[in-house]
Amino acid sequence: METLQNKTAIITGASSGIGKTIAHHLAREGTNVVLAARRSEKLKQLSQEVKDEHNVKTKVVETDVTKKEDLENLVKETKDAFGSVDIFVNNAGVMLLSFLKNDHVDEWEQMVDVNIKGVLFGIHATLPTMIEQESGHVINISSVAGHEVFPSSAVYSATKYAVRALSMGMEKELSRTGVRVTNISPGAVDTELTEHITDGDVLDMFQGRSTETLNAEDIAKAVTYAVTQPSHVNVNEVMVRPMQK
Ligand code: NDP
Repeated sequence: METLQNKTAIITGASSGIGKTIAHHLAREGTNVVLAARRSEKLKQLSQEVKDEHNVKTKVVETDVTKKEDLENLVKETKDAFGSVDIFVNNAGVMLLSFLKNDHVDEWEQMVDVNIKGVLFGIHATLPTMIEQESGHVINISSVAGHEVFPSSAVYSATKYAVRALSMGMEKELSRTGVRVTNISPGAVDTELTEHITDGDVLDMFQGRSTETLNAEDIAKAVTYAVTQPSHVNVNEVMVRPMQK
């Protein structure tokens, strides 16, 4: 197992759900964590929790992943504070499920901006540093919806297929650079993600429907597994689904 003591991880979308839990799990392994999202108050709270519980260093960098300069600044501030970027978790995402016929074009655009362009800007900001270091690990959070399309998930799925394509491209292109990439595809996880859906037809469809869900912990454990493998092991794809009862 690779030790994470004194390594540095950047986590986007760390203000809630999966990202917040990944921050706790990596910090438990001894990693200094840089917390990025738009809601800086939540990040500050998490930063204090992580410091108190895991005795590592933390940094909060308010970041909108749709802004290339914010990602560039995030990596710069991390290097200034800690000297390296060992793990970059491209986790920020939005899932504004809607039926195509209902034409939620602004939400399509938002998903493309956050889920695809946000990940690209993360890669843009961090990859040169990792290549120069000849080491680093990029974790891209895709989805089961990046492997299958469901009614109302067409655009969200398109963005998560794109994330997978980026992961696959990185795997091929970076194999001799010392930089590893892991694409993680969670099934339904109990977080705030569904709270932003506005399409009435989707809300009606979900009304009274009960599905099994994973906890954010289940995904954070998959991240920890991938980043603690020996340096010759490149865990490229992890899919985690809830068991149906
Ligand atoms: P949450 O809604 O709890 O978290 C989403 C995170 O993304 C928040 O921290 C939010 O922070 C951040 N975010 C959204 N927009 C931006 C932005 N423009 N700039 C920076 N950060 C942003 O959902 P989850 O934890 O569930 O989602 C995390 C990832 O997991 C997403 O990529 C999602 O697609 C993926 N996923 C989730 C599944 C689930 O069932 N929950 C299943 C499969 C994949 P803030 O608002 O403060 O900016």
